[in-house]
Amino acid sequence: MTSSSSTPVIEGWFTTGPEPRLIGSRCTACTTVYFPPVPGNEGYCRNPACDGEVFETAELSRRGRIWSYTDAQYQPPAPYIAPSDPFVPFALAAVELPEGLTVLGQVAEGYGVDDLSVGAEAELVVETLHTDETGERTVWRWKPVTELGEEADQ
Ligand SMILES: [Zn+2]
Repeated sequence: MTSSSSTPVIEGWFTTGPEPRLIGSRCTACTTVYFPPVPGNEGYCRNPACDGEVFETAELSRRGRIWSYTDAQYQPPAPYIAPSDPFVPFALAAVELPEGLTVLGQVAEGYGVDDLSVGAEAELVVETLHTDETGERTVWRWKPVTELGEEADQ
């Protein structure tokens, strides 16, 4: 009874561990990457110029550039499960990844819109959204990258 489990709010949308990554689907025909992943990696490519129907799992880059951000003053739709009732506003960031897609997420705990700026770098983290009878439920969030010095981009 002392063991606490930590499970993603949504299964299969991100990896966990020290360097978590979002899991997307890449069209095997046109290489367009989608997030959330295409269920079962089978479906129709949303690229109007592509008739691909087969996808492969693709782990996405951990860092991207903030494309837009906002204070969420309303209850977001699924998959955002309310961690509190009443709803407490939080910051949301849309981060553009090198793969060419933009992924919306909450901003990491302790950060707000004052820490965000369009074009700045953000890194994926996995944090506890809420705790229920099954243990901690985790979700991905975007953490602003605040580097004082230049770090080699490998
Ligand atoms: Zn395609």
